[in-house]
Amino acid sequence: MAIRRLPETIVNRIAAGEVVERPASAVKELVENSLDAGARRVDVAIREGGRSLIAISDDGCGMGADELMLAIERHATSKLPDEDLFNIATLGFRGEALPSIASVSRMTITSRPAGEENAWALAIEGGSVGAVAPASGPLGTRIEVRDLFYATPARLKFLRSERAETSAVIEVLNRLAMAHPEVSFTLHDGNRERIRLRAEQGELLDARLGRLGAIMGREFMDNALPISAERDGAALTGFAGLPTLNRGTAAMQFLFVNGRPVKDKQLTGAVRAAYADFLARDRHPLLALFLEMEPRMVDVNVHPAKAEVRFRDPGSVRGLVVGALKHALAEAGHRASTTVSAAALGSIRPQGGQSGGHQLSFAGRPHSGAMRMPQTPYSPVYAPVSTPSQGMSEAANAFHAPLNEVGHPDAGFAPAARSDDLAAEVAGTIDHPLGAARAQLHETYVVAQTNDGIVIVDQHAAHERLVYEKMKQALGERGVPRQGLLIPEIAELDDEDAARLLSRAEELAELGLVLEGFGPGAVAVRETPSLLGELDIQGLVRDLADEIAELGDAFTLKEKLEEVCGTMACHGSVRSGRRLNTDEMNALLRQMEATPHSGQCNHGRPTYVELKLSDIERLFGRR
Ligand code: ADP
Ligand code: MG
Repeated sequence: MAIRRLPETIVNRIAAGEVVERPASAVKELVENSLDAGARRVDVAIREGGRSLIAISDDGCGMGADELMLAIERHATSKLPDEDLFNIATLGFRGEALPSIASVSRMTITSRPAGEENAWALAIEGGSVGAVAPASGPLGTRIEVRDLFYATPARLKFLRSERAETSAVIEVLNRLAMAHPEVSFTLHDGNRERIRLRAEQGELLDARLGRLGAIMGREFMDNALPISAERDGAALTGFAGLPTLNRGTAAMQFLFVNGRPVKDKQLTGAVRAAYADFLARDRHPLLALFLEMEPRMVDVNVHPAKAEVRFRDPGSVRGLVVGALKHALAEAGHRASTTVSAAALGSIRPQGGQSGGHQLSFAGRPHSGAMRMPQTPYSPVYAPVSTPSQGMSEAANAFHAPLNEVGHPDAGFAPAARSDDLAAEVAGTIDHPLGAARAQLHETYVVAQTNDGIVIVDQHAAHERLVYEKMKQALGERGVPRQGLLIPEIAELDDEDAARLLSRAEELAELGLVLEGFGPGAVAVRETPSLLGELDIQGLVRDLADEIAELGDAFTLKEKLEEVCGTMACHGSVRSGRRLNTDEMNALLRQMEATPHSGQCNHGRPTYVELKLSDIERLFGRR
């Protein structure tokens, strides 16, 4: 048996078997060449999934006539300048992509370098090289590959459907585009445009996020944490999605080493480890990570397709990736992906809230007299103040209460003195159904802690409801408790409004508002309903005058109690936008517990929402 050297074409075809597995791998090699040539624009067109045509145009450095001839020679490359295989800075270096592809297809290359007046063209068919001839063409390079694998029919048989091949091309192109946001990319599949990515402007990180968003979707952009870390001369940057944004496969994980898209088990393993505490085993985060290191620290020459890498110090790389991701996830704190908060709100919404009745489940008990709590010692605002003199002192106390914890002097809902019980309760024991107030948020929401959950109260809605229920109850019994003002407040109105109010003075007094005439166009307010707390009296009087005008004479104020109470509550101290101290907040909660139907406001909206710890745990996938 004689040993002989294989002809060049056969050698190239054997190489092609490794380098060019399918159309997508040809696209990858050709686009990598464009990027290595410094292109800012890469346009790709394919037909039949790349089987009948792959055409790639770029505006890179181009090739002259001599370079063209060399380019399609095996192991000819303009890269690897110092012939150091351990110092590879370009995507290509093996010098075998062009000859390999050319050996199994019909290829034409048209290229024009800067400074030359015309382009040069070269045709290669199944590996047999034609002659370089002058041609017309723009600066840059255009490579057309027709009938890929026509010369190796066995390989043709392994190609998959046009659709599958096309999507493989799309993926290859997207991956390369992620690493090069400054380059514009398009892909046309013969029927329609599949990719159009404009060149991103600005700083690398912004540009990169813009490009990632364009490829991975807006959702990723909104929920991505920036990654930035260094270790042992390696740097990791990129963006990692919040764990709450996850997928059933790892298809949305993109890893790059020195600008080269890689599929690397070690890196994937590091990602998995970093997210292990946050994600179920079968869920995968979305991310794009870019690892940059001294070319000497990583071997990219593991396989002709160059998708695998070998690190000199795999432990250090793993540490870098795990550490950077864990750090970013810790920084994110309580942030949950925007997609989750919508779902969460859906599950928070009170059950049975659709049919108008926003009755909340309240530890299994309905809102009724049944849940009325025993009178608590710290709700003196509601202590009946029936005689003006007594009322005076109470009112004086309330209005001159010492500065509360939040340093706000105008709290009107609070007891003047702090009870020890309250302090004890706030400190720990939480045996009230609505819990112990822990915070006020946005001057609108009271957040309380219960034994097995949290309660969020809309203070304005709750207060409005309380005023209404209390008044209703008080009217049926001994009259609405009032508090006297130290100095009567004079409200200026126009004559008609003043007269209208005074004509209802008796009714108003029953509702806790005592006023009398004070010359033309003015009323003097002497007492106010104590359950309103400190009041904006001027505003209340003016609004009541309007309300009464609107109601007309046909109704008594009692018949329109809801409206009147609503108007009154709007000027009370607990309306939204008022800061409350802990005592005031707890007083509000206790009042709610003691008041039937306080679970919804007069407009049927809930006054509070309770989240059981079990619900919360479910929200966070702890159950
Ligand atoms: P490699 O990329 O490993 O060098 P290739 O066979 O892919 O090998 O390309 C051979 C050479 O042809 C490259 O080194 C480069 O000089 C040249 N070349 C290929 N494509 C282009 C292009 N689009 N623009 C400019 N030069 C190119
Ligand atoms: Mg190449």
